[in-house]
Amino acid sequence: MANHLYDALFRRHETSGRPFLILKDGEVVTQAEFTAMAARFAGALTAAGLRPGDRLALQLDKSPVMLAAIAGAIRAGVVFLPLNTAYTPTELSYFVKDAGARILLCDGRAEVQLSPIAQDCGAALSVLNADGSGSFADAASAAVSTSIAERGPDDLAALLYTSGTTGRSKGAMMSHANLLSNAEVLARHWRFTERDVLLHALPVFHTHGLFVATNVALVAGCPMIFLPKFDADEVIRRMPEATAIMGVPTFYTRLLDDPRLTRNLVANMRLFISGSAPLLAETHRQWEARTGHRILERYGMTETNMNTSNPYDGERRAGTVGRPLPGVELKICDAEGRELPQGEIGTIEVRGPNVFKGYWNMPEKTAEELRPDGFFITGDLGFVDADGYVTIVGRGKDLIISGGFNVYPKEVELALDALPGVLESAVIGVPHPDFGEGVVAVIIPGATRPDPDAIRAALSQTLARFKQPKHIVLRDALPRNTMGKVQKNVLREELKGVFA
Ligand code: ATP
Ligand code: MG
Repeated sequence: MANHLYDALFRRHETSGRPFLILKDGEVVTQAEFTAMAARFAGALTAAGLRPGDRLALQLDKSPVMLAAIAGAIRAGVVFLPLNTAYTPTELSYFVKDAGARILLCDGRAEVQLSPIAQDCGAALSVLNADGSGSFADAASAAVSTSIAERGPDDLAALLYTSGTTGRSKGAMMSHANLLSNAEVLARHWRFTERDVLLHALPVFHTHGLFVATNVALVAGCPMIFLPKFDADEVIRRMPEATAIMGVPTFYTRLLDDPRLTRNLVANMRLFISGSAPLLAETHRQWEARTGHRILERYGMTETNMNTSNPYDGERRAGTVGRPLPGVELKICDAEGRELPQGEIGTIEVRGPNVFKGYWNMPEKTAEELRPDGFFITGDLGFVDADGYVTIVGRGKDLIISGGFNVYPKEVELALDALPGVLESAVIGVPHPDFGEGVVAVIIPGATRPDPDAIRAALSQTLARFKQPKHIVLRDALPRNTMGKVQKNVLREELKGVFA
């Protein structure tokens, strides 16, 4: 029987004695050991009564068993939803209920707290600890091996919830073909082979660590150094064994802060990939100066996996996210979906085998964002240069319209960040009696505290008047969600009264 995703990612490794996961303490899980574990977990799901299409929620620490539970779900045809480990029980109950999950897998530590929630959601609670113990593991060792569930390309594989940066998280319905097509394209585009060793320090409840990093490694058949989280010491210690790493921009800025980052340290590395949030062009340049490598930036999101990437061989352009990946169509449109002339800023729309099937339980939202012709309205604003490289200028929801003029926050933030005393900044629009919206800058000071008047004076030299902040606030830190993304909606709410 065929199972589109399972066959391509796991079944072909069933008898391989090659390493798949190399753990923090040096312990190795081979491909064959991993698939055997997945088969047992699939058996446990089937024994618990789950049938293809049923949902399994998991809130588990990053570990080999967590990945194997996911592989087991794919094998059993069960739709899985991996949940951020930072979610509180109240947050968790939204996801479990929304997805109609039949089982919630949790860590033993959380069992007592989650038990009433699981009950309220009508889900059975089962424990799977990172060390491989727990009631679910017991059920797996008692379960009889079952056949691989038949699943076609259009069957649902996962419900992956968005990061909730702009509002309530939405469950993106990802099919087997969505996930596999993207992993295959990325593995080829970034030249992954079984000779690679991928340094994996990302969380695995998000697209980046799960569908990009892990699935690319599985398609290529290469091992991953599987670290529980990003820890600069550990990443530096393991770098000489690795050939590639995928990270969010903060990985790179934190490594740049460390004097141990040298050309010598990265002598074995061939590729540094960044995504999930904008990588500053400055970070790109500093990285090249220190290591001799140009970071390869790519762009994607929960609903689409990856859409664009800088090239492997060609020019990796700082500040851009590269060109559309093979098979992905990308256009820049106005609000009505009309394509804009090359070079103009508009909403990025994408279509391709990577684009999701819609939002779970949200038909209206799906209809708003997924056009009948298959183009997905990403909500990100950007432009395409003459060579086809895409630059993202921000999210549509963050665009400021002040006195009828468009202000792109990123442009103002870049100008602010270049000033002495500014560590980072966030620029937002809030209601203004004369201008509709007024520009507000939230600044995080660096070592010395910047003077707002000096900032105003400096900006008046570089930015048109309508772009200059009418109000400046100094803060200790920017509010971020659990994926490290700046929550501008929180800032807008807090500062909505400053011009009232
Ligand atoms: P929600 O949709 O719930 O508000 P979210 O959009 O942050 O949350 P994700 O799907 O995790 O959830 O993030 C995708 C978004 O991340 C993209 O739409 C884009 O705004 C941003 N992003 C991803 N990669 C890049 C990149 N290389 N440069 C700039 N932004 C990026
Ligand atoms: Mg989004």
